[in-house]
Amino acid sequence: MSLYIIIMGVQGAGKGVQAKFISSEYSIPHISTGDLFRAMKTREDELARRIQQIMASGQLVSDDVTNEVLRDRLEQPDAANGVILDGYPRNPAQADWLADYLKSRGEAVTAVLLLNLDLFTAFKRAFGRVSSAETGKIYNIFFDDDGIDWHYEEDSEGKFPPRVVATETETGKSLVRRPDDANAGAIIKRIDTYLETTMPLVDYYRRTGLLREIDAAQSIEDVSQSIRTVIEQSS
Ligand code: AMP
Repeated sequence: MSLYIIIMGVQGAGKGVQAKFISSEYSIPHISTGDLFRAMKTREDELARRIQQIMASGQLVSDDVTNEVLRDRLEQPDAANGVILDGYPRNPAQADWLADYLKSRGEAVTAVLLLNLDLFTAFKRAFGRVSSAETGKIYNIFFDDDGIDWHYEEDSEGKFPPRVVATETETGKSLVRRPDDANAGAIIKRIDTYLETTMPLVDYYRRTGLLREIDAAQSIEDVSQSIRTVIEQSS
């Protein structure tokens, strides 16, 4: 049997890192439907253009189109032993389609991993993230502030909330925040959207008995270890 793993989790739960771990540990490709759609940017056809418009507007691509794009990807030779799915399914209708499609191939979803993280920690992981523009090294002012100096700086005109100003101690270089991380409102909106879209799926997979909850507040290594245990029990 091949491994069909689905990974879900709020931003900051470490979904990307763990998906990479699963992909290398089990030699299965990491498939993100968002990445598949972004990769279509260079295509000139009508469908590709339409998808770019939908993504730019922040809406979801239709289930039919998404399922077809995913089917194509699942039928590539490198996916013969299974895949780790990220960003798919996004709703119960896609989950139904996936179950039927896999069944037609004599396969089934192995496990749905939900990386659980309390929402305030999720917020701080995004809001506190600063990185070096040169090396890409990432720190967090709340959790991982060894080797950095940081403080809040008042807006001189008092119009805006204080800003986080951070520098790397060793190099003295300033550390930057992603624009969407610097805006608390935008982070909260992303978390809200996640809850709104994911909770119905969590219920769906809990009902089908496939949901496996993992404590994402642990260290990266411990989360990986928990994932390994869960996959081994499920496969
Ligand atoms: P992501 O990188 O997962 O945040 O996806 C970026 C964008 O791609 C989303 O905002 C949607 O427009 C589209 N997208 C990705 N995955 C799906 C999906 N499973 N169903 C529908 N639209 C999707």
